[in-house]
Amino acid sequence: MLSAKAEDLSQCKALADVLVRNMADGIIAVNARGEVILINDAATKITRLSEKEAIGKGIEEVFCYPGSKERNPLLMSLTGGEVQLDHNFNLITSTGERLPLSVACTPILDKKGKVSGCVAVFRDVTELREIENMKTEFVSTVSHELRTPLTSIKGSIGLILGGVAGEVNDEVAELLTIAQNNTDRLIRLINEMLDVSKIESGKIQMNKESLAVDTLVKKALERIKGYANECQVKLKCQLPEQIPLVLADRDRIEQVITNLLSNAIKFTPAGGVVTLEVTDESESVNISVADTGIGIPEGQLEKIFDKFHQVDQSTIRQKGGTGLGLSICYAIVSEHGGKIWAESTEGEGSSFNFTLLKLERLAKVRAEEGEASLLARLEEFQERVRHRQETKIEGKTVLICDDDPTAVRELKGYLEKEGFYCIEAYSGREALEIAKRTKVDAITLDIIMPGLDGFQVVNLLKEDPATGSIPIVFVSVLKDKANKEISLEVQDWLVKPVDETRVLRSINAAIGQKKERPVVLAIDDDRDTVKLLTTMVERAGYTAETAYDGQEAIDKINSYKPDLIILDIMMPGLDGFQVVSLLKENSWTKHIPVLVLTAKDLNPLEKKTLHLGMTKFLTKSYATHGKIMRSVAELLYTAVGR
Ligand code: ADP
Repeated sequence: MLSAKAEDLSQCKALADVLVRNMADGIIAVNARGEVILINDAATKITRLSEKEAIGKGIEEVFCYPGSKERNPLLMSLTGGEVQLDHNFNLITSTGERLPLSVACTPILDKKGKVSGCVAVFRDVTELREIENMKTEFVSTVSHELRTPLTSIKGSIGLILGGVAGEVNDEVAELLTIAQNNTDRLIRLINEMLDVSKIESGKIQMNKESLAVDTLVKKALERIKGYANECQVKLKCQLPEQIPLVLADRDRIEQVITNLLSNAIKFTPAGGVVTLEVTDESESVNISVADTGIGIPEGQLEKIFDKFHQVDQSTIRQKGGTGLGLSICYAIVSEHGGKIWAESTEGEGSSFNFTLLKLERLAKVRAEEGEASLLARLEEFQERVRHRQETKIEGKTVLICDDDPTAVRELKGYLEKEGFYCIEAYSGREALEIAKRTKVDAITLDIIMPGLDGFQVVNLLKEDPATGSIPIVFVSVLKDKANKEISLEVQDWLVKPVDETRVLRSINAAIGQKKERPVVLAIDDDRDTVKLLTTMVERAGYTAETAYDGQEAIDKINSYKPDLIILDIMMPGLDGFQVVSLLKENSWTKHIPVLVLTAKDLNPLEKKTLHLGMTKFLTKSYATHGKIMRSVAELLYTAVGR
């Protein structure tokens, strides 16, 4: 007869046997040598091995992993004596199929703490993966579909606010601003969801350009001001004296800063302070957002950068949020080659920091020691001019001289939009150097600059017969035209902040150039988008033509060649790809510049296929009025002035 204890034991074993055998999850146990000593029914189904075939076999034969042996979680657990979790395990079954598994491996320790074996519990997650893929696909499709209407809404409101349909009174303006802000919010949300699905599928693309950090910071601060007021949190900003330049994707980095600011405000009680500080390190720029808020527990400082991780779900319900923001920030900063991290003392506040690499080339110029970079800039500029001459196109060149890179960029934006070629000089000395070495048609000149000031530059330019006749326009904060003698020497004197139309009028007058109206053909099956584009195009002084599908576009182009086409991709009948392919066949049309404006995220291969003449790409919802018109103007370089 069995003793009571033995009977208990045997009952326990029977119970364990039943449990193990009938569990829906697969279970495999191995001994210290890694040989299978137990396999349940679910595991035999997954591995496609019978119990008889599996027992006694080495674990690698039964639990075959395509990657390196060291990364097999069962072996890791057996040799390392620690629990191993792997939610992305790909099992190769005995019949050669590949199955996605979620696996948990636990070592069995003997009394002395030595590993005497290991148990793996796992399940087939094929269905789950399929659902996840469908979800990602769904989010992506829906978000793309939303981009087109949102772009039209945003663009139209912008145009109305800009006065295109007549004077807007304060009340209407206020309501339209609400509509505009909320459209922006919706666009952000959609883009955030798309970002996540892109990050998930490993596709995130950056459009990097040289940028002054203060413009990014100021824009983000401006954007977040309303929210800070609403939460009664004070915003402070500290910038270094010399504003460093970085190579960055403007929208993405602005997104990071806005996100950090919005988190800081969100987690700071009323009366608190949020400080944005930019510090200029030797190699990089450090941007930090510090708050006096609730803080983050030490153990969570790294986890918060994980997707969907939130410290306290209850605050989130109160304050909103998705837990996606910081994971996106992390991905963006990493893509820029920077670092991002958080520091915090619970109850006192947190600071989020990230670094961006400085744009060495331009930074050197700022320090006035950039002879090499000046040469590089000159060379690049001369190359552009040479190319222009070869293609027999006349476009005027403007030298922009200002020690403030933001001002340079602003003027450059205005002028390039109109088809001017621009070269930048960040000091008077550089301006003289450039004017001497290359032909420029006009100069915009700041007055107050370190080193040579604007007045001295004018005198030196006038002294030299090679540069004496170049028209000069002052663009300065100096208001009164005190220096009468000098004002006789220059064509115009604009006071900062300058207005786009004024700059263009002034430069055009200085050069004495007349411009034909280029024709822009807008092709999109979405009528609202076409209407919006034609309004923008005509406002900028070009002639707009329209086509509502690919075939109509081809017909129009065959009867009259436009100077530029703005092309949608997803259209019924002939789509954008087919339009480009047809235009490529014809020597008459194969060099037309194209601005592709689509809700679709194009991959590099698709972009390559879409190249006709000079080609640029913009994504709907990211494409602001400014961006669209800047691209149109850049592409019209080749059309302007013919
Ligand atoms: P969301 O803010 O949408 O929840 P995030 O990824 O931006 O998503 O942030 C993740 C979590 O990190 C937040 O839910 C919050 O718990 C914590 N967190 C982020 N910033 C701060 C901050 N400045 N102070 C305190 N906690 C923060």
